[in-house]
Amino acid sequence: MQKLCSCSQPAQFSLVAIVSSVGVPGRLQKSSPAVLFCDDCLRQLSEHLHSSVLRKAVNSAYTTLNERLRERSTVKNSVDE
Ligand SMILES: [Zn+2]
Repeated sequence: MQKLCSCSQPAQFSLVAIVSSVGVPGRLQKSSPAVLFCDDCLRQLSEHLHSSVLRKAVNSAYTTLNERLRERSTVKNSVDE
């Protein structure tokens, strides 16, 4: 079964938010369920985040991941030739 974004396009990424307590002994941490995104929706999400610090953080993870995906497909293509 194909995994879909909420816009019903095929999902390319999943996003999990981890929220941790800070500054109190005995850290509590909870991760959200994974949410599926296509490329367009993930980019839109990161553009609309209200915290610019969070926006930069999500963008940097997204950019790195995209570079790795591109590297991987380049490697696969050169093996196929
Ligand atoms: Zn989408």
